[in-house]
Order: sequence, then structure tokens, then C-alpha cells
Amino acid sequence: MKIDILTLFPQMFESPFSASIIKRAVDRELLKINTVNIRDFSRNKHHTVDDTPFGGGAGMVMGPEPLFECFDALKEKQGGQVGRVVMMCPQGEPFTQAFARELAREEHLVLVCGHYEGIDERVRQSLVTDEISIGDYVLTGGELPAMVVVDAVARMLPGVLGEAASAEEDSFYHGLLEHPHYTKPREYRGMAVPEILLSGHHENIRQWRRRQSLLRTLERRPELLREVALQKEDRQVLLELLELLQSLDLK
Ligand code: SAM
Repeated sequence: MKIDILTLFPQMFESPFSASIIKRAVDRELLKINTVNIRDFSRNKHHTVDDTPFGGGAGMVMGPEPLFECFDALKEKQGGQVGRVVMMCPQGEPFTQAFARELAREEHLVLVCGHYEGIDERVRQSLVTDEISIGDYVLTGGELPAMVVVDAVARMLPGVLGEAASAEEDSFYHGLLEHPHYTKPREYRGMAVPEILLSGHHENIRQWRRRQSLLRTLERRPELLREVALQKEDRQVLLELLELLQSLDLK
């Protein structure tokens, strides 16, 4: 997969992509990340990319010209074939694991990072195919959201994570939150690892983990359960948990 990131601050991407799993993916050529400085496509003397908003009001707006020209250059470089163009935007579609999996199936992505008050609406109308929000809050720019998208998408690419299974067991992949994890030592500051995890009984461990996963989802994000393809065994566990909660007669 190749990801082109259009940004006013390419230097912001250097550190996050030069460590750990993303670096390894790049080194192994499973992923190519290219940052493009939008400012390089400004034709005016001072290389400005923003201007005051028509109609008045506070802040500056990123103008259409550098972005359209940047996009034209990218298209030419790509031999006319550009993949999905995803703009980072607090008003966009909420980013989810399912969205990350969908994007990971693409060969080429273009991520567009806004700044200031945002980007001239004509860019969205003509160039953008998708808009992503990473949450209901406003950041100063699209760079951090783009890093979040690259990271989440990269770990869905075949071969990027050590074991293919590890992404599938993560929270959200199949709709549930994941079970808790423990490692050595067996006891730490009076806190013991659940006995069942030390038993070596694989089926019991599997059932315990599934139960924990259902319990966590029920406690923390019950709305997720509506979308999960529950197995018969899960329904039984949930019924037991609900009965237990009812019997506690919580206020
Ligand atoms: N005036 C815009 C609004 O109210 O919708 C917010 C602009 S924000 C200060 C500047 C840029 O940061 C946006 O163009 C977008 O690229 C990025 N951004 C900010 N918050 C974001 C979020 N939650 N998700 C994705 N991108 C975000």
C-alpha cells in the first residue's frame, strides 16, 4: 500500500513513522508513506496557502489553488490513477476499526490534512472521496488524525503485525472489547493472576476470555453488542450476567 499525505507540516510525521511497527512495515516495503508539502504548490511570492474567509469572521482558510495543484501533480506521478482521497475533518465519518479495515484493502490512499479554520469547500466538493473524524473534538490540524489513520490502517495490512491472529483478537475487530491480559510475575504487590490462566486448560481459558470480553463490553460499551454476531454460547453467558446483575439489585 502507498499512502500520500498532503500537509503543511511534513516534519511532524518524521518521528511517529520512524519507530516500532510502522517503521518495520516501511523497511519491509509493506507500506510506503510519502509526505507532500502543500506549501510547495503555492504560487505566490511568500508561499502563503491561506487567506481570510469570504463573508468575514475569525481565522484563516486554506485556499483551493495549492491543494488542486498538489493533487494534479500527484495524479500525474501516479499515472492518472489516484486512490481514495481522505480528508481529515471533525465533521467527517467517525473513524472505526471497520473503516480502517476497509481502507487497508486499498492500494493507494491520499490523506489531506487541514489547518487553521479548515480547507476551502471546493476542495471537498471536487477532490475528496471520504472524510474522517477521529472524535468529537477539534484539533489544531489534520496531522495527528492522519497519523492515527495510518497507524490503524497499517496494522491491518497482511504481514505488518507479527502474528496475523493478533489484530483479529483486538477490541472492535469482531465487535467486542478484548479480555484483560496478564504476564509474569504470577503475583505482584498482593495481586494474583487469575488461577484459570495458569491452568494450561486451553478450552477453559478460551471460555474465560470470551466471558471477560462479553462482560467488559456489557459494562463499558453495551451499544456495541447490537452489532456483534453473537454465538449461542455468548447469549447464554450474557443471560447469566444479566441475571447476576439483576440479583444484585443495583441502584
Ligand atoms: N473550523 C473547523 C470546524 O469547526 O469544523 C475546524 C478546523 S480544525 C481547527 C483544523 C483542521 O484540523 C481540520 O481541517 C482537520 O483537518 C483537522 N481536525 C481537527 N479536528 C479533527 C478531528 N476531530 N478529526 C479529524 N480531523 C480534525
